Amino acid sequence: MARTTPTTLKTFKQLEKQAADCRLCPAMADQPAILSKANGNLHANIVFVAEAPGRFGAGRTGIPFHGDKSGDNFETLLAHIGLTRKDVFITNAALCNPLENGNNRRPKTSEIKNCQPFLKKTLDLICPEVVVTLGSTGLQAINLILGTRYQLKDRVAQPLTTPGFILFPLYHPSPRVTNWMRPLAQQKKDFKKIPRSTGE
Ligand code: SF4
Repeated sequence: MARTTPTTLKTFKQLEKQAADCRLCPAMADQPAILSKANGNLHANIVFVAEAPGRFGAGRTGIPFHGDKSGDNFETLLAHIGLTRKDVFITNAALCNPLENGNNRRPKTSEIKNCQPFLKKTLDLICPEVVVTLGSTGLQAINLILGTRYQLKDRVAQPLTTPGFILFPLYHPSPRVTNWMRPLAQQKKDFKKIPRSTGE
């Protein structure tokens, strides 16, 4: 895997600072944006795009998918296909943790739109071969960038060719999803289908 060049690192650090200073979503103005070197490898072939930091996960630890049950499931899935965090980059449709009455909530469409430039710039910087969305909100964010209308239920675990990368929509690994919609055993099979380049 390529080493991070000074230019890439400088551009990412600028993006990280812009996100840290961003107060565009009033409901999340007090929440930290989760975008740092803890998100992963800037030369990753695979970028994961999920929903938003969770209050017990990245919202607390600063590390995407780490510290809560969703994170445990994600780490299990990643290990299942022989990858580590150092091999991939993980980000979210909304970089800040959306809360309602102290509980996680789904980011609003307006918040996903507000955060879209950060996602777009991140993808432009990393230029991954594959973008794996985890859940319908991650897919919604990519749809906004691409001008597409892909639905998760119709496209799950299907590689979709786009101008810049292969889009691969998957379900979110949260307990709500693994318990009621897409069991972890099935998600392991889905992860095995993620397109992988020979150079990885
Ligand atoms: S979610 Fe994104 S757009 Fe909204 S305040 Fe956080 S960094 Fe800014």
